[in-house]
Amino acid sequence: MAVIKAEAYGHGMLRVAESLAPRVDALAVSCLDEAAALREAGHHQPILALQGFKDERDLRAASQLDVAVTVHEDSQLRLLAATRLHRPVRVWLKLDTGMGRLGFAPSRAAELVAALTSDPNVTAVPGLMTHLACADAPERPENAAQLARFEAATRHLPGERSLANSAAILALPDAHADWVRPGIMLYGGSPLADQSAAGLGLRPVMTLSTRLIAIHALAPGEAVGYGATWRSERPTRVGVAAIGYADGYPRHAPNGTPVLVRGQRVPLIGRVSMDMITLDLTDLETVQVGDVVTLWGEGLPVDEVAAAARTISYDLLCRVHDRVQVVTG
Ligand SMILES: *Cc1c(COP(=O)(O)O)cnc(C)c1O
Repeated sequence: MAVIKAEAYGHGMLRVAESLAPRVDALAVSCLDEAAALREAGHHQPILALQGFKDERDLRAASQLDVAVTVHEDSQLRLLAATRLHRPVRVWLKLDTGMGRLGFAPSRAAELVAALTSDPNVTAVPGLMTHLACADAPERPENAAQLARFEAATRHLPGERSLANSAAILALPDAHADWVRPGIMLYGGSPLADQSAAGLGLRPVMTLSTRLIAIHALAPGEAVGYGATWRSERPTRVGVAAIGYADGYPRHAPNGTPVLVRGQRVPLIGRVSMDMITLDLTDLETVQVGDVVTLWGEGLPVDEVAAAARTISYDLLCRVHDRVQVVTG
């Protein structure tokens, strides 16, 4: 089940759906609006809305669009009871085995499966799912505890099972069950805290790049950018690249965040502006206005930039703004 929520982690949901749909058994999105856009674009395969329905409109949309929904909360059971659907919906019952976010207490699994199975608004038997809080660090004991809680609660129940996100797919084979839910790994980000994407055999799908629009010289002691947060200590060649936080480059990326110019790493210097960033090009032998500047992707793993900016690849990828022109290869 390919997870393509949030514009496929910033890659464009419809574009990615077109590429992946023939190669996966189902698509997963967050909400019904995303599911509706997929149906409208002509995608006929199974779709799961991971957050399920939040009101009657969503529930009716799920039924009309034939989109499976997650049921994780009593308010959804009340909506199901209060609504008469023309066509029943497919349901995944979500259990909270330790994430502490969405899902019912595992002790209620049997009672809820029985109720949903006999509900005329629900097709057949619900699937059973849970989500792991610590799969990015597979050795942590929380993982085994969540798997054990899920197993204990569902052992005697019918229905397909799903537990694994990307991290669990790569590092927790016991969590694979019937359906896996890869997200970040499809886009070439590493889901494991201590392993590089390349080491896991993952290749970047997105390369974010721009060009140098100005180069100038600074004398020692001169400052760069808003707040004058960086000051040269030597004669410095500064490059200005046309990308900023309005494009999705993180404003909080600090001095020293790696950027690629002519295939070589140079440090970001000064604050990230709305439409521009500034780079220290002093150590590059040759460089000129118009040179390609790569922010992440081919040649510079997004995970490295994310680590420098104290965030995760997911956050960087799904921030990329509509203003950025998409070139597909
Ligand atoms: C987003 C999401 C995933 C995918 O997670 P990745 O870490 O990107 O693989 C899987 N399951 C659920 C419930 C999600 O919300």
